[in-house]
Amino acid sequence: MAHDELLARHRAVLPDWMALYYDHPIEITRGSGRHVTDGEGRTYLDFFAGILTNGVGYDIAEISDAIRSQIDTGVLHSSTLYLIRSQVELAERIAGLSGIPDAKVFFTNSGTEANETALMLACGHRRSDQVLALRNSYHGRGFAATGVTGLRAWSPTALSPLKVAWVHGGYRYRSPFRDLSDADYVAACVADLRDVLNTATSGDVACMIVEPIQGVGGFTLPPDGLFAAFKEVLDEHGILLISDEVQTGWGRTGEHFWGIGAHGVTPDAMTFAKGLGNGLAIGGVVARGDVVDGLTANSISTFGGNPVSTAGALATLDYLLDHDLQSNAAKLGARLISGLRDVAADHPLLGDVRGKGLMVGLELVGEDRAPDPAAAVAVLEATRERGLLVGKGGLHGNVIRLAPPLSVTADEVEEALVALRDAVAEVSAR
Ligand code: PMP
Repeated sequence: MAHDELLARHRAVLPDWMALYYDHPIEITRGSGRHVTDGEGRTYLDFFAGILTNGVGYDIAEISDAIRSQIDTGVLHSSTLYLIRSQVELAERIAGLSGIPDAKVFFTNSGTEANETALMLACGHRRSDQVLALRNSYHGRGFAATGVTGLRAWSPTALSPLKVAWVHGGYRYRSPFRDLSDADYVAACVADLRDVLNTATSGDVACMIVEPIQGVGGFTLPPDGLFAAFKEVLDEHGILLISDEVQTGWGRTGEHFWGIGAHGVTPDAMTFAKGLGNGLAIGGVVARGDVVDGLTANSISTFGGNPVSTAGALATLDYLLDHDLQSNAAKLGARLISGLRDVAADHPLLGDVRGKGLMVGLELVGEDRAPDPAAAVAVLEATRERGLLVGKGGLHGNVIRLAPPLSVTADEVEEALVALRDAVAEVSAR
């Protein structure tokens, strides 16, 4: 089928609100390492890793073999009512890696479902439907997950099963506190948290949900320690802290295995998805055992923790730990950020270059930091023309997001920097 026909059929039968990247949207038909090929035979260096789903890379033999051996048993899935060896092993591994004492794990099929579950567990545990969330957050497409999403463009309904109150902190570049020192910024956000608790809630709040680095919100980066300072306040009230690690988990941020690690605090629960399956659908919650066990009725996910996804996830986890991809993320992420700061020095269009590890955001601005979403669209197209796939996001749609597979090489980072420098120069000269 020709590309144009595929596009027309897509548009006819899939929702208008499912955005497609590019004037000429592409179909990815093959992948290898950090490269993908489209249906028209063009190969790209993928610096968005399929929105961070291909966290390790494409066509990794160890991972494909593990999935294939499970398929060869003839059992793609039967039921979570029976024992599943790889599910138990994966849960043990994640519980151990979480640092949460007496942790238990529940597997889902997506990040949304993971957050829905974590919020349900926290609200059930605390017998409260009040939740704190960060402005500029994204937590998924479910009813509760949309309710705690603090981005108008991604929160299509005002209806929510939760009573949500919003706190400053995640998005420093456009925060009223942005010009303060790190310590004063944290103090101002903590004061805001106390104020929100006292004015917009009845006090008996169930939980606070945070992304350590906001993903859809534009790879925004609060100062290290912010969430530890928040947790001190939360602990005064028994409010649980949920860290949404859907984008920041598995070593992506370089310095730490979980994004929240940068804050020196252990949350009560973490949610995960995307990179764990290296492309397979898997997500889940890891949380304090007493919180997980607090449900007062049966509950299952039919496919969550199925043997194919958990076998693939175990192999992914082995691969990223055996190859120390977290260190690779730290080293090459630092190079990516320093290379991009050099580009920013020549091009004021790059108002902010920020990130940690292989999660790097470029905020495109005009005079007085005015958001420039048209420039972001132009950079997206200009990088694609140069054989590089990147992402877009942010409250104003003016942030370019870079998140290559964690196995990216030094040469590939240099190649991406050249493409980005040229693309930014071209768009700046418009
Ligand atoms: N949380 C975060 C931080 C995310 O970035 C996303 C997906 N972009 C989700 C939750 C939802 O995950 P999914 O699309 O798998 O439901």
